[in-house]
Amino acid sequence: MLLKPTALPLTAKEFDEAKVGLCMGCGCGCSYIAYLKGDRLVDLYGHPADPRGMGSLCSKGMAYVQLVNTSPFRLKGFHLRQGEEFVSVSEGDAVSFLREALKGRVAVLMDRQTASYTDYLMLRELGDIYVDAPVVDFLPSTVDFSRWKDFKFILSWEAEPVYSEVMASRWLVDGVERGAYLVCLSSIHATVCAKASEKHLLNPWKQIEFLKEPPLPIKRFLQTVPSLVLVGTSLLASPFKNSVINILYQWRKKWKVEYSLVGDLMPYPAGTLQDLFNRLEQYDTFLVLGNLLRYFPPEALDVLKSKKVITFSLFPNFSVHHSHLVISCTFWTEREFIHFRNGFGTLYRTPPVLKPPQGTFHIPYILQLITQKREEPLTDLLLEAKPIETVEEKPLPKEGILLVCDNTLVEELGRWNLWTHELDKYQKAILSPATAKVMGVRDSVEIGGVRFPVEISSNVAEGVIWISSSFEEYQPYDPGVRPGAFMKNPFFRYEVLT
Ligand code: SF4
Repeated sequence: MLLKPTALPLTAKEFDEAKVGLCMGCGCGCSYIAYLKGDRLVDLYGHPADPRGMGSLCSKGMAYVQLVNTSPFRLKGFHLRQGEEFVSVSEGDAVSFLREALKGRVAVLMDRQTASYTDYLMLRELGDIYVDAPVVDFLPSTVDFSRWKDFKFILSWEAEPVYSEVMASRWLVDGVERGAYLVCLSSIHATVCAKASEKHLLNPWKQIEFLKEPPLPIKRFLQTVPSLVLVGTSLLASPFKNSVINILYQWRKKWKVEYSLVGDLMPYPAGTLQDLFNRLEQYDTFLVLGNLLRYFPPEALDVLKSKKVITFSLFPNFSVHHSHLVISCTFWTEREFIHFRNGFGTLYRTPPVLKPPQGTFHIPYILQLITQKREEPLTDLLLEAKPIETVEEKPLPKEGILLVCDNTLVEELGRWNLWTHELDKYQKAILSPATAKVMGVRDSVEIGGVRFPVEISSNVAEGVIWISSSFEEYQPYDPGVRPGAFMKNPFFRYEVLT
C-alpha cells in the first residue's frame, strides 16, 4: 500500500507539493517522499514509515530519482535512421514504421529499469521476450528480506546486496548484530564480507566443492539453528547455474534452509540472451527496451543490419546507435511502473511522481497506438511459482582463469550521471597478486582483444579476473568497453579464459 507523506515535512526547503513514490532501482522498492516546487524536485527523503527502506535511500536510488528526470543527456522525440544519420520524425511516421515492423516475427529485449511488468504483459502478445538476467521457473526466495535478521546462521554465496539490492544489506547487518554467524563465500571480497564471522575467497569451482561437503562446524549450525542461504543471481548467469540450483535444493531438503536469490532475476517466462543468440536469424524485428545490444557480439550486430531494430531508450546509448527507429521513453519516476525483475519475487508499483520531459513517451501509450489494446489494470501482484527442484547436473567447465564481468553499485544507467559514475570511474581488470604473477601481468591485460588497465587487489580470489560490466562506448564520462566486445559468451557473467 502506498504511504502518505509525513504530516510534518522532512525538508526545510520551500515546496508546493509532497508526493510519495517507490524507487524501482532494485528489488528493495524503498518508499521516498519527493518535495516539489512547481514541477521541480527540490528535496528527496526516504520515507521513515517504510518498513523496507526505513527512511533511507541508497546512492543509486537517490541518483536515479533526482538526476534522470533532468539529465541533459535525455533523448527527446522519435528518430529514424537514414544511412549513418538519424532524422527526427513525427509520432505518426514513427508509429507507421513500428506498425509495419511488428508484422514480422518479433523478439522483445527487456532490461530491468525500462520495462514495467505491464509492458511485459503487453509485449509478450507481440513477440518472444528475452532478458539480460537469469530466468528461473521456481520460487526465487522463500523468505522476505526483512526477515533475514531472524536467522542464526547465514551463508552469503556470491551475494553482494550492496552492489545490487542495496538496502537489503541492513537486514543482513541486523542479523549479525543479533548474533547470526555469517559465512561469506565469494570470488571477490566486497562490503558484506566486512561483517562476516568467516570468509572464504574462492573461485566458483572451489565454492561448489566447499558447499557439497561443508566443514563440520557449518554442518552443526545447519542442523541446530534457523539457517539462511543468500545466492547472488549472477551465479545463475554462468556455466555453474545447474550445480548452484542443485546445491540449494539439497541444502533445503537436508537442512530446511530458507533462501533468497539476490540481484537481477527474471522469475516470469522469458528467454535468456543465450537463447536469443541461437535464434537471431528467425526474427525480422527486434524491439529493445533499454540497452541490451551492448551484450551483442560483433557477429550478432551484423545479423541485425538486415533486420529492423526499434529501441525505447532514455539516453543515446550503444543500442540507440545500432537502431533503425529510436523512441524516447519515460523513466519509472515519470510513469506508473511495476518493478518485477528481482530475486525476492516481489512486485512493487509506483505512481508517477515527476513530470516527464517534453518529447518523451510512455511505452504503454505507444503500444496502445499499435495494438489498440488498453493496458489492463492489475490487482493481484503476487508471484506464484513452484518450489525449487533438482535439475540435470551439467559438467562444470575445466578449471582455469575465470573472468567475472558484473555490476558494481554503478550499473549501466549510473554511467549517465557524474555522481554515480564517479563512484567507480574507470573500467579495469582487478586480479590478485598471485593471479597477476601466474599470468605475467603488470600494468595491463588483454582480454578478448581488448586491453584493460590492471589493478592488483587481495580482495579477488586466486584465478579470477574481475571487470565491471556496466561500461560502454557511448557513455558520456570515461567511456569503456561493453561486454559484447570482449566476452566469448556475453550472455554469462562468468567466463573461463584459459
Ligand atoms: S536500495 Fe534499491 S529501491 Fe532502495 S533506494 Fe536503492 S536502488 Fe532504490
